[in-house]
This record gives sequence, C-alpha cells and structure tokens, in this order.
Amino acid sequence: MKYYVENFGCQMNEHDVEKISTLLLVAGYERVREPSGADVVIVNTCCVREKAEQKFYSLMGRLRTLKRRKGTLLGVTGCIPQLEKKDIAEKLPFIDFSLGPSSIHRVKEAVESASRKERLLDFSDNGCAASLHVRPQIAVGTPKAFITIMKGCDNYCSYCIVPYVRGREKSRQSSDILEEIRVLVDRGVREVTLLGQNVNSYNKGQNDLSFPKLLSEVNSMSGVERIRFVTSHPKDLSGELIDCFGSLEKLCQHIHLPFQSGSDKILRLMNRGYTADEYKEKLDLLKNRCNNIAITADCIVGFPGEDEKDFEATMMLVKSVRFDGLFSFCYSPRKLTQAASLPDSVPREESMHRLQELQSVQKAVTSEKNRALEGTKVEVLVEGMSKNSSLELTGRTRSNKIVNFKGDRNLVGELVKVEIVKGYANSLKGTRLKEVYDA
Ligand code: SAM
Ligand code: SF4
Repeated sequence: MKYYVENFGCQMNEHDVEKISTLLLVAGYERVREPSGADVVIVNTCCVREKAEQKFYSLMGRLRTLKRRKGTLLGVTGCIPQLEKKDIAEKLPFIDFSLGPSSIHRVKEAVESASRKERLLDFSDNGCAASLHVRPQIAVGTPKAFITIMKGCDNYCSYCIVPYVRGREKSRQSSDILEEIRVLVDRGVREVTLLGQNVNSYNKGQNDLSFPKLLSEVNSMSGVERIRFVTSHPKDLSGELIDCFGSLEKLCQHIHLPFQSGSDKILRLMNRGYTADEYKEKLDLLKNRCNNIAITADCIVGFPGEDEKDFEATMMLVKSVRFDGLFSFCYSPRKLTQAASLPDSVPREESMHRLQELQSVQKAVTSEKNRALEGTKVEVLVEGMSKNSSLELTGRTRSNKIVNFKGDRNLVGELVKVEIVKGYANSLKGTRLKEVYDA
C-alpha cells in the first residue's frame, strides 16, 4: 500500500509526521511524493492560527475530488481534529479516519479499518504515553535528528490553543530519551535537537533529571557533536540553564526565545509571566555567559488592546535586541482561548500594517548581521544538497544560520570549516576551507 503525508505547522508536527511515517514503513507501506500516486493520504494539521486551518480545509476540498476519482483513503491527524473532535466527521463526512496528536500511534490500525470501510476516530488523551514513545526511524547517515522530550503545555498563554489540543505537559523519562539518542548516534546522527512546547519546564525539575541535567548527560555522550533545544519560555529560563551555554561545549550558540510583545500591558493580557525588562535581563545573562550567542524569537502584533504605544514598545525591543531572526505573526483569535473574548480588537488592516513595519525593520537587521559575518570562518554541519543548485551543499552554523557552498555530495554528514563570502537576508554563501575545523 502506498501512502502520502502532508504536514501543516511546527517542528512538533513535522516530528509527528515522521512518527506516522515510521509506523507505516515498518508495517510494509511505501511512501510516495504525490497524493495522486497514493492509496492513502494523511493530512497532519495545525490550528495555531486561522490561516493554517483555512489552508487545510481548502486542501481537503481538493483531496475529496481525488477520492471521488481514484477511491483514495483519506485520514486527518493532529490538532484540528483534536479541537473539533467528532464534529470533524460532520464537517468532512468523506474522511476515512481521524486521530488527535496523542493517538497517532494507532495510524496503522486506522488505515486497516478504513480499508474495511470502518471509520476509526480517536481524540482521547489516554494514549499520550504511547504516542510520545514512538521513535521515528531515520535513514543511516542522516546527520541531525529531533527527539521529543515532552508533550503538551501548562502555560495557557491567553492567545494560544496548544494546551487545549496537545493537553497538559507530560515529560518522557530521561533514560528513554538518552537511549533513543544512543541509537540515533549509532546510525550516524551528530546533531540532536530536544523538542517540546516548553522544553525548559521538562519534568518541572521533579522525580527525574532537570532540563539542565539532561543537557549535561547528552553533552557527555560520545558521538553527539551538537545539541540544540526548542522551544523555551522566558519565565522558565533558569540561571542553571543559562550557565549551560558557558559550560557545555556541545550546546550550540543559539536560543529561540519568543517574547511575543514588548509592552508590559500586553504581556500581562497574554498571561506570559514576565515583563519586557525581565526578558531583556535574561538575554543579557545569556550574552554574558556566551557572547556570540544567536537569538531568535516569536512575536505577535495586533493582540486585543494593543495601541500605538504598545506597538512602539515592541518595535523598541526589536530594535534594541537586534535578533538574528524573528518569526512574527498577526494575532489570530482562537476559540476556547481566553483572549478570544477580550475587547478592543485591532482592525485587520492595522495589524497587517504593523506586521509589515516590524518585518521590514527585522529584515534589515538580519541582513546586516549576516553581512557582518563575511570573512569569518565557521563550522558547518553538512545536511544535504542545496535546493537552489545541484553543485552546492547546504548546512548550518552552530548559530543555526544556513550556509550554502560548493562541495561534493560525500561531505554530507561531515563537520567542515567554511569561510563566509556573502551574507544575504536568509542565508550565507561560503567557500569550504580544506583545513580541519578547530574552533
Ligand atoms: N511553545 C512555543 C512557545 O511558547 O514559544 C511555541 C508555540 S506556538 C505553536 C508558536 C508561536 O505561534 C508562538 O510563539 C506565537 O508567537 C504564535 N501564536 C500562537 N498562538 C497564536 C495566535 N492565536 N495568533 C497568532 N500567533 C500565535
Ligand atoms: Fe502556547 Fe504559551 Fe504554551 Fe507556547 S507556552 S505552547 S505560546 S500556551
């Protein structure tokens, strides 16, 4: 049987797709690159913003036509069905199965039921441990891998739907995580990214290892050359974790630390649990520990009640921090969340205008920072061939910047030394230096 999986959303979702894929490959299914060549099409969904939801429903319209023509089985997984529960089967009566994020371990069973014309729907949270423990299989020689260390979120930021669709926080046992990493390293992985909605509240420091201790254990594993983690919440960024950036040599010099707004009034309404000054103090501590650390973040504009002064505070923060990269979004009201019932919504055109202003300032900063790297020598982990040229390789620096450079395919998986010759808005161009990297 041939399957095709389409994904919407974050790294957690991409990782879930790899889990779904592994479960089907192990069962003898074959992955194909086009929905038209598949017997079963699975769409993994995101509902963090309305736009992703709209895109999903329009894709389902097209897939319905495919099903009519070819009898393709259709499955929907992830956050939208978890939100809609049984209503998903009314909204999309033509789907053959649907699983919430905690039930994806049942995907093979769901496809088999669908083949017998029995529709499996599972949006329970009971299976969370099972879905958390599925280990995606990666091809031998793949240089980097993601490892889920926790699921769910207890933060209830007032705009965010994640706690309602991914449930309460649950951490994996450290022994299980370390064992998974050991297997990955044996298959050739050199860079590991520890993954969770709020990794720095891993275990909430109880019963098992704290997050800094877990990082330290991974740091001591032979074969692991680079460690990253995503995502962190500023309020849970402890002094001990900040110290890791100075003491763990394998921890990469990059942190993704969303701030969401530069206005204390808006941060309070967002239920973020810190002020703009507290956020900046944490960044100062990070820079003191690791002076060349790259900082990226997420930010929302047009949150209810955001006036000109609040937006100006966000602009000030962005201009003063000079982030290496920024993911910025217009606020999107989400049902169930606290913010959905807040007054003083910002008109869409005004939010769009603010977003454009913010993004144009950030784009200039990112370009300047990338240009400032011209002439420097950096370590790059080669991830594969560049999408833009068959002669170029692509990889990332320890600061998580993309570098493209001419080189032979057999360097994939190697750590190489590259001199940066050009900095662009989203990437760097380099020349490989033959010497061994000795940073
Ligand atoms: N757990 C992570 C965190 O707290 O940073 C990320 C979770 S969320 C999937 C990723 C980003 O989406 C958030 O940092 C936020 O900027 C944005 N986001 C979440 N809900 C949103 C909403 N209702 N409207 C616009 N952006 C939103
Ligand atoms: Fe959503 Fe806030 Fe949890 Fe991140 S920390 S997933 S933004 S509720």
